[in-house]
Amino acid sequence: MNAASCLRVALPVPLPQLFDYLPRESGRPAVPGGRVSVPFGKRRLVGIVIETGVASEIAPDRLQRVETVLDDGEALLDERLLALLHWCWQYYKRAPGDVVAAALPPALRTARGQRPPPPQIHQLTDAGRERLGAPPGRETARYALLEAMAPGPQTDASLRGLAGRWRATLDALIDKGMAETVMAPLTEAQPQPGPELRSEQRTAVDAIVSNLGRFRCHLLDGVTGSGKTEVYMCVLEQVLTAGQQALVLVPEIGLTPQLLRRFSRRLGVEPNVIHSGLAAGERLAAWEAARTGRAPLLVGTRSALFTPMPRLGLVVLDEEHDASFKQQEGFRYSARDVAVKRAAELNIPVVLGSATPSLESLRNAKEKRYDWQRLRERATRAALPSWRVLDLRQQRTVHGLTETALDAVSIALDRGEQVMVFLNRRGYAPVLMCQSCGWHGLCERCDANLTWHRGGGRLCCHHCGHQRRAPELCPECRADALVGAGEGTQQLEEYLAKQFESVPVLRFDRDRVSRKGVMDEQLAQVREGECCLMVGTQMLAKGHHFPGVTLVVIVNTDQALYSADYRALERMGQMIQQVAGRAGRAEKPGTVILQTLHPEHPALSLLLEKGYAAYAEWLLEERKLAGLPPCGHQALLRADAHDRADVERFLRDALACFPRGAARAFGPVPAIMERIGGRWRMYLVLLAEDRSGLHRQVDHWLPRVRGLSTARKVRWSMDIDPQEL
Ligand code: ADP
Ligand code: ZN
Ligand code: ZN
Repeated sequence: MNAASCLRVALPVPLPQLFDYLPRESGRPAVPGGRVSVPFGKRRLVGIVIETGVASEIAPDRLQRVETVLDDGEALLDERLLALLHWCWQYYKRAPGDVVAAALPPALRTARGQRPPPPQIHQLTDAGRERLGAPPGRETARYALLEAMAPGPQTDASLRGLAGRWRATLDALIDKGMAETVMAPLTEAQPQPGPELRSEQRTAVDAIVSNLGRFRCHLLDGVTGSGKTEVYMCVLEQVLTAGQQALVLVPEIGLTPQLLRRFSRRLGVEPNVIHSGLAAGERLAAWEAARTGRAPLLVGTRSALFTPMPRLGLVVLDEEHDASFKQQEGFRYSARDVAVKRAAELNIPVVLGSATPSLESLRNAKEKRYDWQRLRERATRAALPSWRVLDLRQQRTVHGLTETALDAVSIALDRGEQVMVFLNRRGYAPVLMCQSCGWHGLCERCDANLTWHRGGGRLCCHHCGHQRRAPELCPECRADALVGAGEGTQQLEEYLAKQFESVPVLRFDRDRVSRKGVMDEQLAQVREGECCLMVGTQMLAKGHHFPGVTLVVIVNTDQALYSADYRALERMGQMIQQVAGRAGRAEKPGTVILQTLHPEHPALSLLLEKGYAAYAEWLLEERKLAGLPPCGHQALLRADAHDRADVERFLRDALACFPRGAARAFGPVPAIMERIGGRWRMYLVLLAEDRSGLHRQVDHWLPRVRGLSTARKVRWSMDIDPQEL
């Protein structure tokens, strides 16, 4: 046996390598991108062949042989996709098997998983049509089937309804040459004309279309309601009518029936949908339709990114700043960054759209790496809302709401309008703050905000690890008014429901809308335009179009001002801007009320007075001064374990063997959510000006980290370009 003809396979095991196997001696050969079943220890695993014809460094007599070549030897992942996955496991320092698994629908990760047969259709032949011209006689069943096919080709599903034995009847007709079964033809787009584009939209469409057929990243930076979706659809129309496929990625919460209907009506094709909530069979069918090129348009969340699409001509990523595009566990990739990479590999354009672009994308646009298209006006000409800032120090609150805000809600509801009350409950760590003077703890060593760890009664710095006991009284004004910010909002919904008993109160939060259909029902009710009060979290801030909303109340966003996470201010700005974008989108003007303990905070005043663009500019300056992303590059070594000391010991050992170079490493730092499910979480921070330098150092370091004896007591992983601390 010649060792130069081995196969290199990605297997679903958490080891940072590929595995060599001998090919089968007979039968169909395995191909790159194809599935094989192989022995692995005492188990049998399904893997994806990455390379064939390789010379293994392992002696041939110690190599095992591929057991089965699956899928009749067909490649499921094409070469370009394999190249992208290869880039991913190198860049994100993740086991190849984990990365490749992300590209397969769960149903295909076992050997039993079978791809569904391609859909077929049944149609009349000339002989069949002739037979229809004569009376049915005694062949009633056959005649009925011929009649069913008379209007045009029919699918299994549509014939199944006719009779239990339709298949046998059809076979008889096929035998007689009266019918035939053929592959279903590809769907073709039948676009409907959209509205006349405004000039800013026209410019954006022209810019993107001029780059069809080559790589270019476009940042579509347009205020809420400025017609970004219309821009996507105009470009999609061109791509689809040229016979190419398109991939549209949306945030987890943005994938609504409303959006899908809009696409299908305008583009004249049913979008194929992929998200993690689909049943395995549905997901497989959608994946297979995209992979075989039958489905021209794929709309999905993060996980749809790796779907093979042979004629992919355009990638669109809507709400590109959204945190759900970053996978936060396992293979921690950024769907935005990988989407850009995929487009570059395929030499096609990619469009990133947002009303509040991420600092990463803004920087790329400013430095001309991205083409920057701005839509400054709302398409419907609705005015942008007016702001009212309420100082929480000067007013009594009930469950976090001031009387002034409550009055405003009451007036709007009396007028029969729609109101949105926005709570920000998730995503920020608690801080200890004084309700009477606004004091909160700062680290003496690095000026970062201290996080309150209530259980241990400690204040803790997430940058340097400094800790101290939490005070009993406010150190500034001596008042007995210290509270954990971000608490006490839970009861607000119930309170509002009691205050406004005659008005429907709709709750939008993860607990409520995770039940199937609830979100859609509630959205439909809001769109009816009847008076109602919406109470919700982040979820309400996403791109829904609520023309009837005239008042938005933001209960409190101050936690972002104290957060230990340097991205908190960016997220706060995006959130405030997005929430505000919900107000007054139609004829009626909108008002946004923002309650805060810090009306004079420079970040807040900048955002409210100058808008998101100026605010983002200022944030970028700050990041530059601190050398933080996107003006520097960051990676975390994360670790967790039941015993806090194990985590600390491992991270200290890892820090000690970090190689010299341009990147700095420091820590261990406790994670903002320090303990989850009984496990203590901490990390090391690696920071460098230069991305490739950082990666080189990390690549040198990881084998040493793997070899540490303390590594065995913890669960650890790399987080490249982390989004959460
Ligand atoms: P965005 O995606 O930026 O929030 P949309 O594309 O959803 O904005 O547009 C907001 C509203 O304006 C939609 O109702 C859309 O149909 C409408 N619209 C968009 N472009 C135009 C246009 N050129 N003329 C008239 N109406 C438009
Ligand atoms: Zn105080
Ligand atoms: Zn500190």
